[in-house]
Amino acid sequence: DSSARVRELLALDREHVWHPYGAMPAPVPPLLVESASGVRLRLAEAVEGRRELVDGMSSWWAAIHGYGHPALDAAVTEQLGRMSHVMFGGLTHEPAIRLAARLVDLTPEPLRHVFLADSGSVSVEVAVKMCLQYWRSLGRPEKRRLLTWRGGYHGDTFQPMSVCDPVGGMHHLWSGLLPRQLFADLPPAGFDAAPDPRYVSHLAELVERHADELAAVIVEPVVQGAGGMRFHSPGYLAVLRELCDAHDVLLVFDEIATGFGRTGELFAADHAGVAPDVMCLGKALTGGYLTLAATLCTTRVAEGISGGAVPVLAHGPTFMGNPLAAAVAGASIDLLLGRDWRADVTRIEAGLRAGLESAAGLPGVRDVRVLGAIGVVQLDHPVDMAAATRAAVRQGVWLRPFRDLVYTMPPYVTADEDVARIADAVTAAAAAG
Ligand code: PLP
Repeated sequence: DSSARVRELLALDREHVWHPYGAMPAPVPPLLVESASGVRLRLAEAVEGRRELVDGMSSWWAAIHGYGHPALDAAVTEQLGRMSHVMFGGLTHEPAIRLAARLVDLTPEPLRHVFLADSGSVSVEVAVKMCLQYWRSLGRPEKRRLLTWRGGYHGDTFQPMSVCDPVGGMHHLWSGLLPRQLFADLPPAGFDAAPDPRYVSHLAELVERHADELAAVIVEPVVQGAGGMRFHSPGYLAVLRELCDAHDVLLVFDEIATGFGRTGELFAADHAGVAPDVMCLGKALTGGYLTLAATLCTTRVAEGISGGAVPVLAHGPTFMGNPLAAAVAGASIDLLLGRDWRADVTRIEAGLRAGLESAAGLPGVRDVRVLGAIGVVQLDHPVDMAAATRAAVRQGVWLRPFRDLVYTMPPYVTADEDVARIADAVTAAAAAG
């Protein structure tokens, strides 16, 4: 019967399956999902009396159109009828070509060339490779360090880990083995705050002092995600652009979490009207359907690399440019641009602001902040993940609190009453955690 099947599956999961940031075996069993449709996850059996959960996480920023969208399903099915995959070395295909051209159209003007990788972390690896190789090609191999600011998160492979927040971050275990990068202080908090002149001087001092060894500055623009869900002034992006131009340093924006409308602009860089030399995209790129990421660069970077002793970008994942993923990414972009996504994000922003108001008065709550379709409650203590998750599930909502944070970034198609429900669940989870 079905509960025996659920028990069997969860026992096998516990025995054999690693989960993200997971212990083996996992101390708290994951919830078994049977299917997902719209903004709802359907569990194989009821947990805390709930079989259906409204998804407050968009599967980690990705499922912006919800699950099982007919247009996205059709894009995958149609492409499946043609081919699911072919190697990208020596071969090419329409889904990848059209997607690359589309991304060039949508992103800031000087970005013209697209590398299609298969995960966000790999797209950051590729971004770093592009920058390091650019300087090597120009005969300046000593320019090989990266500067970032604290509180960042760029992925779990080695170069990305080296620019994640070094203290209290997830990667401190590896600190002795990672390339030694440069860290500016945390950017001052507050999307609406004017840039702080002292922080601007701090950035300037670091870039000037280290210009000879700096290949690139890499940051998450406007919203630092997994490193702490912090928002900062877009003004710092313009400051970084100026500093990088003045001191011969490349500028990389990691828009893997922020891209495709999440912060209220199509890309977070658009809040500042600033263009990077290299940009990483992922997560919502395929509407959360399939794994795909992109690294875009300018012609200056591409020509720099082509002019070097090794004129190729030496990277080529087996599943590069996967046609199914590229096709669904194209369809996801069509869907996004075909509806008034800005109105949806603004509506969700207003719903989260109203719904999270009462959380600010809870004991143990340090801060409540909302930007675009992102709502964050920060506690003054580490969250009890299991208790907070359970409290949300009891309200019929899926959340994944971590560190001192209970937060949500719902699909853009979430109806007002579900936004209110998510906000209530965030508040309940913050109170319980
Ligand atoms: N960069 C940012 C800003 C992210 O938020 C993430 C994922 O959370 C990554 C990079 C890594 O992407 P992936 O998990 O697809 O490797």
